[in-house]
Amino acid sequence: MKRFLPDFAYDEIAAEFAPSFRAAQIFQWVYRRYVTDFEQISTLPKTMRADLAERFTLEGVAIAAKQTSEDGSVKYLFRLADGHTIEAVLLLMREEQRDDEEHTLKQAQYTICLSTQVGCKIGCAFCMTAKGGFERNLSAGEIVSQVLLIKRDRLMDAEKGLNIVYMGMGEPLDNLDNVAKAIAILSCKDGLNISPRRQTLSTSGISPKIAALGKMNLGVLLAISLHAVDNETRLRLMPINKAYDIASIIAAVRAYPIDLRKRVMFEYLMIKGINDSLECAKKLVKLLSGLRAKVNLIAFNPHEGSDFERPSAAAIEAFQRLLLDRGLLCVVRQSRGIDIDAACGQLRERLGVKAALV
Ligand code: SF4
Repeated sequence: MKRFLPDFAYDEIAAEFAPSFRAAQIFQWVYRRYVTDFEQISTLPKTMRADLAERFTLEGVAIAAKQTSEDGSVKYLFRLADGHTIEAVLLLMREEQRDDEEHTLKQAQYTICLSTQVGCKIGCAFCMTAKGGFERNLSAGEIVSQVLLIKRDRLMDAEKGLNIVYMGMGEPLDNLDNVAKAIAILSCKDGLNISPRRQTLSTSGISPKIAALGKMNLGVLLAISLHAVDNETRLRLMPINKAYDIASIIAAVRAYPIDLRKRVMFEYLMIKGINDSLECAKKLVKLLSGLRAKVNLIAFNPHEGSDFERPSAAAIEAFQRLLLDRGLLCVVRQSRGIDIDAACGQLRERLGVKAALV
């Protein structure tokens, strides 16, 4: 059976195709020139191209559907070789800015939100993915391919800088080995060249695995889906809190090696009447005191089948103001792609879990 090339790190390819500069050529043509057929790698000898094609394949992930939002974000549904589907979202963080003579003043900025599993075991109450249960982990190549296919689909310049967040379907720390390998492949200088410092791993808070991630010293940023300031509320939203409570998560974060120029992000999904009071804001300040932290406030995005509601703009603003007044860095994240079911699992749910589209 042919092996899926994006599953392999640079060193592994170099070990199979000597001399080692051949690996650089393969990576450059696949990840920077977006070839879909090894025959197109014209700098490789013909025999090596044939050898590559005999033992490896680039087919394993395909775009099954996509939806473009009014704000420029694009949601992708990918079909895997076994028919399962996963999602990723290309988020337009800043539009291109031009002067009167059409010169580019500032480049558009993008972030890609990736999936790491088919489904998820964590079962968060507010999440569509959780409703579909868990199927399997993604391989490193299936994670990497989401970026490659999006860049190829958009004909993005190979040099175009991107940020990556592991925040789509699945819990990345539940698939740590493959995610760590994907981080390394994505950051390869001859490939997609996305520095680990531009990659953020977002976790529901599996404390021992936060420690394991820290020991791996991958250089990625850490984001914690906190969403509540007391264990009772958090347990209601995230059953994982039964195994790893808030205190254990904060302790693991305090021990995590943080680049002194960076901060740990705390995601806080604001839900009306559940966690949006000023009392909660005060507790949050106390909980994170002494940490190099940044809080991302996200207003809940109502979806079919959920009883939760979005808080008012005034409640979000008051919450944010309290944090800022007390010295805690905090931004309100815009709900990008709100018109394209951009919360994880929503496109997949609507199109059917095993879609066979496009
Ligand atoms: S929010 Fe993330 S961790 Fe929680 S169930 Fe959904 S995919 Fe899993």
